[in-house]
Amino acid sequence: MRAIANIKSGQEITLNWCSDPFYGFKSKVHRRNSLLNAPPFVLCSCDLCEGDVDIDATAFEALIQEAEELASRWKSLENCRKEVQCYKKMYTVGRTQKIQNYFLYYKILKQAFKIASYGYSMYQANDLKMEVQSLMEAMEKFGKVFGKDAILDYSDDSIKSTALMPFRPKNRYA
Ligand SMILES: [Zn+2]
Repeated sequence: MRAIANIKSGQEITLNWCSDPFYGFKSKVHRRNSLLNAPPFVLCSCDLCEGDVDIDATAFEALIQEAEELASRWKSLENCRKEVQCYKKMYTVGRTQKIQNYFLYYKILKQAFKIASYGYSMYQANDLKMEVQSLMEAMEKFGKVFGKDAILDYSDDSIKSTALMPFRPKNRYA
C-alpha cells in the first residue's frame, strides 16, 4: 500500500472496496447505495461521500455505457479507435470534475493505453501510434502523483518501443 498524500497522526484512512472500474465516476447516491444494499452493507463514510460536493455523474453516464459496450465488442481497428476516444473523453471530463487520480490513471489512461497499443500492434495504424505516444506522455506525469517507482517510466526508450511493437504470431514449433 502506498500513500499519495500526507497522513496526519490519528487520521482515518479509507479504502475503495468496489471492483467497478467506473466507481469513481458515479454519484454519491449510487456509490453509497451499492455498498449499503449488498455486502458489506455499510454506509460509506469516506471523505468523498461525507463531503458536501458531489461530482456531476450524468456527464459520465453515456461514456461509461459506451465504454462497457465497446469493451465487449471485437477489437477491430474502428472499435479500437472508438474505445480510445471514449476513454480520452472520460479522462478530459474527469479532469475538469477533479475525479480522483487513482481512477483517472489506473482505470482510464492505462485502459486507453492498453487498447491503443493493442490496436497499433494489430493494425499498425499511424493515428493509434500517435495515441500511444500521447497517452504515454500523459501517464508519465502521474509519476509526480504516485511516485516515479510506482508507475512505468514512459520516458524510457525501451518501454516506448515495447508499447509500439507490431504483433508477431508466435511460432509454436520453434
Ligand atoms: Zn465513499
